[in-house]
Amino acid sequence: MNSENYDFVIVGAGSAGCVLGNRLSASGRYSVLLLEAGPADRYLWIHIPIGYAKTMFHPVYNWGFYTDPDPNMHDRRVYWPRGRGLGGSSSINGLIYVRGQAQDYERWADAGNAGWGWHDVLPYFIKCEHNTRGASEYHGSSGPLWVSDIGEKHELMEAIIRAAAERGVPFNDDFNGTIQEGVGYYQLTTRNGWRCSTATAYLRPARRRANLRIETGAHAIGIVFDGRRAAGIRYIQRGREREARATHEVILSAGSLQTPQLLQISGVGNAKQLQVLGIPVTHHLPGVGENLQDHLQLRLMYKVSKPITINDDLQSPWRKMRMGIKWILFRRGPLAIGINQGGMFTRMLKESDSPDIQFHFATVSAEMAGAKPHPWSGCTFSVCQLRPLSRGTVFVRSRDPRAALGIQPNYLSHDTDRRCAVASIKYARHLAAAPALREYLAEEYRPGSAVRSDEELLDWARDYGATIFHPSGTCKMGCDPLAVVDARLRVHGLAGLRVVDCSIMPTLVSGNTNAPVIMIAEKASDMILQDHAAHPTPLVDLSPTI
Ligand SMILES: Cc1cc2nc3c(=O)[nH]c(=O)nc-3n(C[C@H](O)[C@H](O)[C@H](O)COP(=O)(O)OP(=O)(O)OC[C@H]3O[C@@H](n4cnc5c(N)ncnc54)[C@H](O)[C@@H]3O)c2cc1C
Repeated sequence: MNSENYDFVIVGAGSAGCVLGNRLSASGRYSVLLLEAGPADRYLWIHIPIGYAKTMFHPVYNWGFYTDPDPNMHDRRVYWPRGRGLGGSSSINGLIYVRGQAQDYERWADAGNAGWGWHDVLPYFIKCEHNTRGASEYHGSSGPLWVSDIGEKHELMEAIIRAAAERGVPFNDDFNGTIQEGVGYYQLTTRNGWRCSTATAYLRPARRRANLRIETGAHAIGIVFDGRRAAGIRYIQRGREREARATHEVILSAGSLQTPQLLQISGVGNAKQLQVLGIPVTHHLPGVGENLQDHLQLRLMYKVSKPITINDDLQSPWRKMRMGIKWILFRRGPLAIGINQGGMFTRMLKESDSPDIQFHFATVSAEMAGAKPHPWSGCTFSVCQLRPLSRGTVFVRSRDPRAALGIQPNYLSHDTDRRCAVASIKYARHLAAAPALREYLAEEYRPGSAVRSDEELLDWARDYGATIFHPSGTCKMGCDPLAVVDARLRVHGLAGLRVVDCSIMPTLVSGNTNAPVIMIAEKASDMILQDHAAHPTPLVDLSPTI
């Protein structure tokens, strides 16, 4: 294989990129280069689920972005972690396996994206999955991505489930089955107590293929164009600039922040804004970096009256040792879980005909997700609105690929989102006050009893709201003027260039985003292989679509 000429060049070995690396190289027919800016995933804490806390602020395995000061959040800059290295964010995430609601995908299809309705995408969710519960109408048991039950019940989580029942929310044994609504335990992307990232699920079995080359420490700095056709990628590795040519396609899978960044520094974006920065315009595509959506988490924390939380486990050397032994011998216990044990999907807004908020329940509390736990027994009820209407942007400030990226989430800028935030904090308190939790919750630590009126609750949300790590939508799929890719994920108006990652979501799914991104990459792999089997290159219609 000529080291600098490939059929496909993929940028970013994250949730999406690892799937593509595997699937596009599987037949042996195509040569594939997978470029990853970060390192290999050799850090042990990536692979042990509780290591989530160790990678949350890690300078090597985490890009550690901050948003710009957000005027809607009292000008706060919000910390936005993103995975860096093989597996990308699937190597550092909270491991929760949730697909969203059937209606999310119907909305995508209704917006003009043929082939993305629920019945189109369900087979790909099933194809990905190795669910330890076995195969069913909704689940797969022979895919590479392991999905497992938590394996043991926690006394506090059981009380939360009873409290939810007291508030009229039924138990749900499977948030990815017939119905999402309800309360219960999450399933996690773990395999026998180890994290199952896309690097371990998809890349590890493929890495010895002669037609797949994986380059780590390879930071893409620009797309090479031959006219309006993407012909390759320029990247920096070990201080040297290199170029990899793609005879078939360049595929961007650098995530919701860095895919639009790479397009913009390559001259694909809003022409006026690029010109101001002195970036030569390759193609005017005003939607690049727009339509940013994220789930804002509001973390209510409680002091717990019994020493049964992870805070307590971590205070005691003996309990820490017991946790370690439990994981080594049985692959169970807090080390096998990550952070959140259970969740709940329910409705807040009158106008919603399906769950519009999600809870993440953790038997641990800390000032920030992944930070050092409090020295007292504590737990967290984190609640987020599932389909926010606020929209933000991602924008480059200079043509220098290493310059800080502008990120403006505009959280809570829409009235509906503010209404939902206030209602969901009140609802979390209503849940916490249920009889079943009386013997467990001693005191509300945050927001705290002084925060009462709607104005105070909203102010608290602006002061303390944080990301639940689901930025998406910045290169949205569609056919309107702000769409960046079409329903086959080809960049509008350019040839040989696709985007396959979380950025293509036209609207955020009602749940966590890892499983949906893996589904997107599975479906994209099929589309790419079909397109190349059916047509000689170039594949993409060069006539402008916008
Ligand atoms: C802390 C955290 C917790 C989360 N918890 C959950 C959870 O519990 N459940 C869930 O479903 N989802 C969770 N998510 C979200 C989910 O993991 C992401 O939505 C998903 O992984 C995004 O996939 P992606 O392929 O779009 O991007 P990523 O997986 O982020 O991959 C992008 C890759 O591109 C690389 N890259 C970027 N720029 C360049 C460049 N210029 N050149 C080369 N390589 C580049 C990056 O290093 C990275 O490896 C979490 C995310 C985080 C960060």
